[in-house]
Amino acid sequence: MFTEKQLFYACLAQTSPTPLGIEICDAEGVFFIGKDAKKYYDLIAGVSVSNAGHKNPAVVSALHKQLDAFSHLMVFGELIQAPQTRFAAFITSLLPQSLNNVYFVNSGAEAIEGAMKLAKRYTGRTEIVAFKNAYHGSTQGALSIMGNECLKQPFRPLLPDVRFLNFNAEADLLFITEKTACVVVEPVQGEAGIVLPVNDFLKKLSARCQQTGTLLVFDEVQTGICRTGPVFAFEHYQVVPDVLVLAKALGGGMPLGAFVASRQLMSCLASQPALGHITTFGGHPVSCAGGLAAFEYLTQEVTPKQIEAKADLFYTLLVACPHVKEIRYLGLLMAVELGDAEKLQRFVSMGVQKGFISDWFLFCDTAFRISPPLTISHDEIRDVCRLIGQVLERV
Ligand code: PLP
Repeated sequence: MFTEKQLFYACLAQTSPTPLGIEICDAEGVFFIGKDAKKYYDLIAGVSVSNAGHKNPAVVSALHKQLDAFSHLMVFGELIQAPQTRFAAFITSLLPQSLNNVYFVNSGAEAIEGAMKLAKRYTGRTEIVAFKNAYHGSTQGALSIMGNECLKQPFRPLLPDVRFLNFNAEADLLFITEKTACVVVEPVQGEAGIVLPVNDFLKKLSARCQQTGTLLVFDEVQTGICRTGPVFAFEHYQVVPDVLVLAKALGGGMPLGAFVASRQLMSCLASQPALGHITTFGGHPVSCAGGLAAFEYLTQEVTPKQIEAKADLFYTLLVACPHVKEIRYLGLLMAVELGDAEKLQRFVSMGVQKGFISDWFLFCDTAFRISPPLTISHDEIRDVCRLIGQVLERV
């Protein structure tokens, strides 16, 4: 009989030479529970997925209920399925009138693909603008607008006509022209190591897009669903995009993505040609039911003020710790900068021994991530910061 660990290394595709490789048997609230009943604070939440906490009873009950009714029926868009219609109505009720139409897909990358196709189809233009150090997913379209050459180069040729600007560089906005179909941007850059927009950059970006007839696409895959405080991060900046991309926490722990736009914009995927985007499992009814339950839970139980207070508590408890150079954050989307990649790797491994799980960012290997379930309590924050502090003393 093989152990799970042996099977993991023998039968599952490895994504890196050094996976964390911890065997997890259960998860509840803000904790993973390992094989040996050891508890680990989850400071990653599946990279901003488990916002409502692991095994949230409201979500589990909605999933059971939907499984008892029906699971997959048909490719997205053909049949009327209450989990999809109710969830779409709920999402759009939280958004401005111009974002009143939801296209459900499977993942963040697929939602980005859909948004880029929509922009090309709507504007009749081909150029796409994105930002250096941006991450939008790993399929070939999403990879084409990833702002990091190292991860892209081996997979070329990718999409032509992609232009990269520097985030927060106002002068670069002039490169957005009448040829640009859309600009895809994370309102807060996640995998760059939590980089916030400054000096009204998003407002200026939006103005330039309006000037040139370019669609503005906000990738809120990481920042959406209350992660930064308000339901969507764009609310911090008073800029409404033409297309909003969601995934990760959208399914309440189940796989789900969506791009949201106006009815008028979205309608161009339904003609010339019809079936402008096709997805078998997009908007899976069980994912939609779980997503709606999680989203309702978060909007009823977790206020932006609470999230801000929790983030401030993390900040206060960590800012004076040894090796901490800077903490960048918006709500519970946080990067603690140590300024040294080797130190950070030691920190992450020692953290696992101590009982918390964190990691670094794709394009910033000198800072560690704090993006726990939003349900984390003040006592849990104090406790995990005590553990983090102990590791930082020794790293
Ligand atoms: N966009 C952002 C900002 C992300 O962080 C991610 C994933 O980390 C994606 C898109 C891609 O999402 P998925 O992994 O569901 O394809």
